[in-house]
This record gives sequence, C-alpha cells and structure tokens, in this order.
Amino acid sequence: MEKIKAGIFDIEGLENVKIEIKEMMGEKIPEEEWAPMGPTPMPKIADLREWDRVLLKRYPPFYAPQCDVCALCTMGKCDLTGNKRGACGLSLEAMQGRIVLLACLVGASAHAAHGRHMLHDIEHMKGDLSKIPIDFGTEINVEAPLTRLITGIKPKTVADLKEVFTYIEENIVQLGDALHTGQEGSALDFESKAYQMGMLDSLGKEAADIAQMAAFNFPVGPGRPLLDVGMGTLDTNKAVIFVIGHNAPPATNICDYVIDHNLEDEVDIGGACCTAIDSSRYSTIVKLACSLGRQLRVIRAGLADCIVVDEQCIRADLLYQAQKVGTPVIFANDKKMHDMEIRDGDDPGEIVKDLVSGNVPGVVLLDPLNVGEVAVKVAQQMKPIRRKKGWTLSDEEFKKQVEACTNCGNCTVACPNGIRIGDAHKLAAEGDISLLASQFDICIGCGRCEQVCPQNIPIISTMIKAAWPLIQAEKGKIRQARGPIFDTEIRNVGAPLVLGTIPGIIAPIGCGNYPNGTKDVYTIAKEFGDRGYIVCLTGCMLIDTGLYRDEEGKTLFETHPDVFDRGGIINIGSCVSNAHIHDAAIKVANIFAQRNIRGNYEEIADYILNRVGACGVAWGAMSQKAASIATGFNRLGVPAVVGPHGVKYRRAFMGRKDREEDWYVYDARNGEKVYVGPVPEHSIIAAETIEECLPLMAKLCMRAADTPAGRSIKLTHYMDLNKKYLGAYPDDWTVFVRGETDLPMAKKAEFMQMLESDHGWKIDWKAKKILEGPTVKYDPSFDPTNLARLIRHKKE
Ligand code: SF4
Ligand code: SF4
Ligand code: SF4
Repeated sequence: MEKIKAGIFDIEGLENVKIEIKEMMGEKIPEEEWAPMGPTPMPKIADLREWDRVLLKRYPPFYAPQCDVCALCTMGKCDLTGNKRGACGLSLEAMQGRIVLLACLVGASAHAAHGRHMLHDIEHMKGDLSKIPIDFGTEINVEAPLTRLITGIKPKTVADLKEVFTYIEENIVQLGDALHTGQEGSALDFESKAYQMGMLDSLGKEAADIAQMAAFNFPVGPGRPLLDVGMGTLDTNKAVIFVIGHNAPPATNICDYVIDHNLEDEVDIGGACCTAIDSSRYSTIVKLACSLGRQLRVIRAGLADCIVVDEQCIRADLLYQAQKVGTPVIFANDKKMHDMEIRDGDDPGEIVKDLVSGNVPGVVLLDPLNVGEVAVKVAQQMKPIRRKKGWTLSDEEFKKQVEACTNCGNCTVACPNGIRIGDAHKLAAEGDISLLASQFDICIGCGRCEQVCPQNIPIISTMIKAAWPLIQAEKGKIRQARGPIFDTEIRNVGAPLVLGTIPGIIAPIGCGNYPNGTKDVYTIAKEFGDRGYIVCLTGCMLIDTGLYRDEEGKTLFETHPDVFDRGGIINIGSCVSNAHIHDAAIKVANIFAQRNIRGNYEEIADYILNRVGACGVAWGAMSQKAASIATGFNRLGVPAVVGPHGVKYRRAFMGRKDREEDWYVYDARNGEKVYVGPVPEHSIIAAETIEECLPLMAKLCMRAADTPAGRSIKLTHYMDLNKKYLGAYPDDWTVFVRGETDLPMAKKAEFMQMLESDHGWKIDWKAKKILEGPTVKYDPSFDPTNLARLIRHKKE
C-alpha cells in the first residue's frame, strides 16, 4: 500500500487498519496536553488557602501546649500565659501553630531530602535518570497521582522527578521563612502553612517511592511472597548485618554483594524500620527484624555483627550502644556521621581491618556502592569474635542486677509508658521473671529508665534476659510490599467505596511509640479487615502487625486477601509508600468519577472529604514525619487518629458536632446548602485507649455522600465496635441517622425503639418509618461540595 503522507487525505475505504495519530495538520499534539490543566498547578503558599479555611472552619485547631514560654529568639524567653504576648507580639496560640509548622517542616524535609538524596544515589548507581522509565505495567496508567494532582506534571522518567523535588524544596524554604520572628502571626495561617507543608510531604513521599521502584525494579501489585518478620528470625548461626533507617540504596548493595558471592548461607540481613521494608522489596533475603521500638533491643541483645545505618529514626546514641556489645557501625548517609571518618577512598580491606580490630568503632561510607563488601566482610569476621563473648547477661549477672534494684521508682517516673520495672525486678530477684518478660513488649526501647537508675542497672539488658525465650520465638510473616494500587482494583472498589458499601479504607501508618505494646496494631488491622474494610499498612505498624498469629498459626497476611478490596490486608510499603494510599483516594476521583486531577488539588480533596471513607491511624506516632504525614492526609480530606502519645504534637483538628452551622455543604447541582451532619467528625484526634480508637475510626469513615445502604453498614460497625470495646452504644449515634434506611439492618427494630423511647423521635410502627426526628435528609442524586465554584446551576 502506498505510504500515507502527512496532510489532508481521504481515509474512506480503509478496513481493519489500526491508526495511531501522532500529528494533526502538520502539528504535533503536545505531550503536556494529556489532560487540561487545573486551577492550581504547583501551588504556592497562598494558592490553596481558601480550601484550608474551609477545613479550619469545620476542624478548628485545638492546642494543648506542652510549654507556655517561647525561647526561639534572644528577646525571649517570653512568658505567653494568659493573654500575654511575646516581645515580638506572638500569642501562645500562634506559637503553637508555629511549633506545628516547624514539626511538619522537619518531617517534610526528611521525606523530600531522602527522595532527592536517592535521586543522586540512583544516578550514581544506575546512570542517566532519563533512561529509567516510570512504567509500572499495564495495570497502572495513572502512575503518579499526587504528582499529577499537585504539580500538573506527568513524569515519564525518573529524571522528570527532579522538577518535582525542585518545586518541593522551594516551597519548604518559603514556608521555613514564615517561622522567622516577625513573620506569620496568626495561628490559622500557621496551620494553613502546615497543611501546605503536609501536602509537600505527601508529594515528596510519592516521588521518592516512585524513584526507587523504577530504579531498583521493585515488584508491584498483589500476590507477593511472604517474608520473615521479628527478632527471632535473625539467624545468629550466620554473620548478621543489621540495617537501620530509611534509605535503601546502601542496603541494596549489601544484598547484591551477598547474592553475587553466594553468601546467603553465611550472611543474614535483617533490618529495622523502612530500610528493612524497602530493601525487602529489592530482595526477599532481607528479614524485617523489627520496627523502631525494638531497634535498641536488637542492638543490646547483641544480635548484630555489623550495623549499617542511613537516615531517619535511628538512635542518636547508636554508636555508644553498639560499642557496649562490640558491634562495628557503618554510617552510610551524610545526615548521620557521628564524628566518624569518611573512608570512601580507602582500600576496603583496610576499612574492614580497622573495624574488626576495634581500631575505630565506626566509619562513614557515603557511596552506597562501597557499603556491601565492607559490611559483609566485617560481619563475617566479627561473627566468631562476637559469638565467643555472648552479649546477653549471664544468669549470675542477671541475678546480681535485679537484686541491686531498690524499687525506688525513678525508672517508672521516667518511662513514657510508666512501666513498673522495680516491681518486676523485685519478683525476678525472688525467681519469678514473668512480669519482667511481659514488660518487654510494652517497652518502646527508649532507654530513659537506664539514665535515671541510681543503681546503674542495665534495665534494657535485664528485660532482654527475662524475655529471651519470647524474643527467640518472635517469628512472624508479612507479605512483601506491593506499592501502588492497580487502576483495575480502583475500578472494582470505586463504586462500593463511594456508596459506602465497602465501609472504608483503614491506613495504619508510622512509628512504634505505642502506649501498650505491639498487639494493639494487630487488633486494629484484624478488626477492620474482618469487617470488610480495606486495610493498607505501611511503616512500623506494618512490621508489628506481622508478629501475631491466630490459633492456626497464621498471620493476618495469610488469612486475608492481598488485594485492595473488601477485607484485604495489604502491605503497601515503607513510610514513603504511604503516598500510594493518598493515590488510591485520588484515583477513585479520577478513574471512578472521571474527575480531572491535573493541577486540581482543591476539587479532588473536596471529593475525597465528602465521598471516600478513609481513615489513617498512627497508633505509635512519634516523629516529626508522622506530624507531616498526618497533616498531608488531613489536607486531602482524610482524617487520622493518633495514639495517646500523639497529644504531644500539641494540636488536634476537632470538629464540633453541636455546631450545626459547621456541617452544611453545597449541593453542586443547584447551590442549595444542605446539612450533612458531622461527617467526618474530626480531622485529627488522639485516642487514649485502643478501645476508644477502634469505634472512633469507624465513625471517621462516614461521609456526606454515603448511600443509606452504606451509612447503615458504617453505622453498624460504629455501634458494634462501641458495644464490643466500650460496653455500650455511643451516645452520639443518632446524629448519623438520616432516615430509617440508615439504621443497621439486623437491629432496626431495636434502634427504632431506642429512637422513640430515649430520643423522642416519632415512629410510625406500622410503616416502620421515622416520622419526626432526624434533621438530615438523604437524596440519591445529592452532589455534595464545599466549593462554591463547583455549583453547576444556581437556584433562582
Ligand atoms: S520569637 Fe517572639 S515569643 Fe519567641 S522568644 Fe522571641 S520574642 Fe519571645
Ligand atoms: S530506677 Fe533502678 S533501682 Fe530504681 S526501681 Fe528502677 S531499676 Fe530499680
Ligand atoms: S526503655 Fe522501656 S522501660 Fe525503659 S523508659 Fe523506655 S519504655 Fe520505659
């Protein structure tokens, strides 16, 4: 056939021909026109302020100052109690907003800097970034939803992420400037800036995870293999390398070295926190030894023959602790060097000799390609030396230490969880170690008790000794992380999520600063997974969830499907991977509802707030990153619950269900203002106990757009969880009832009776209808929005 040339021609008569149009009328379709640009590409500080005001009006900040003085400049310290203002004019309220912004700045910087650092590492390890495509297979066409939403960019290669990080970095600096004395003076504008910072944090996480997935070929999607998790999985018959932190490239180099030299039978690699999760995406030889809370215990138990640290959530006294048990340390990131020498240019043999001989306790190796060989050889050579010593207390030493305890209580006062170590030591001195052993899981491994003990008792070590059989038995399973949610999965769950018949997405995220041990995180995942919510786990809560098994010896990753669908319990990945949970919500708006996401943050956040029943939980929230993560979720319309230690962030965003005027939205069809009730009631709130947390999360999955079937299911879980964990139905349940069809099906008569007798509602028992009572009406074509500009036809 004659070749068709560019220009105008008649295509009549062609049959069964696939035509790909690249050029029209001699002009190329510009690639950047993949979707129309929304109103706020690369938003600056003020661009989303109106959306923030919508949120802050409904969820005003509630401050719980830890300290009522400010000493951030030399005019201070300033007493801010009562109505006093600082020498610069700052109020106590604004000062709290300022501290929140500062925490979010630190958190967002950690994620964004990690991402940028990784781009440098990847370029060094893999070469030209523009040759690394961002392509996660045919099941994912919307591969960077947050990036598309916030920046308007559709990245094609890892090189395109440079522009994303440039945007983030400039904004972080602008927001950091607002912290300077004499800049922002309004608490609400500090919070708007914190929202902006949280959004940047989300974006930085997505870009970081996409970069590592693309560069290191991390597998994507369901059906991942099971991996070992727990301290007991570390095999001390081998040389043990313990990797800690949040930057996988050095750990990938260790995996490569072990595999390339066939050393799997001689060397064991275990990790803590996100480096463990991310490097196990690279290679399944990596074991997930522990979350943040067990980091010190792995070290002090002497399990590691070589420790490799990179960045974030690593103990600042790591070198000192490692020296106590004779473990050399490799610092593999310039953010953490602990006064050790940079040895990248040196002969690896010399470095190994210096570390193994104890000539130096640690070295800095900034080139990830230098880490593998040194770490493996150090671990191999340290193994025989360290095994001879044994690092847990001997029976005699243990007895001596517990007998030295005077039960003075200093440790209990210093302990964040108030653990009564003195009582446990007293019992142990009498020969009963059970209490001390049981305290091991409640302990978060902070080490504060040891600092205050007048008897200098190595409390961490006495606890390890007592709990040693439990530690050895700590062998769980989790699935390898699966990263982003498939577009096809979103197509399947989009409707039931928006209608409410899948009651919600539950996102346990973040650190291990739990109030009462690791079992609570398992309870959260199991309770919601069993109830048909979609449970998406990341970070330390993910690792700890895998520690528990049912009566048949199965973990939740074996009993629940590995799919983003009803009842699925899935491993999304590390802390940076939790961006994929934002992404899932964004993709519901994009794929299911066909909303344009490009540069269109406000509309999509509004969609999610009104329709996608998702709730985050950071039961052990500890770091500044947890603050920025939660604030990023909140701006996108996703509420979060933190554990009791979370009150130390000093700020909650709590709605007031008694203020009816706060709960009106527009009907986008005609601009009518409609009361929707307090859904979701709070944006971020701390729960005191796990019993309080579970029903609260179910409550925060309710949305304005819930259909009666969906609301009935959500209300059933809310009522049921209250009854199960708090012993009674909640006293606010009636505010979520819009009509008899919202009532839990199985107990409709009982609840109608309660509405009539306890709340004075009028019931037509013959027709089984509510005649008078509820103030909200459900209309199936109701189209809720908080944004006046989305109203299609104003009612005359
Ligand atoms: S920043 Fe303001 S409130 Fe803080 S110490 Fe300085 S003058 Fe006082
Ligand atoms: S501080 Fe030391 S001596 Fe006092 S109760 Fe605790 S372990 Fe015992
Ligand atoms: S290390 Fe454990 S027992 Fe000691 S203060 Fe911290 S949480 Fe409490």
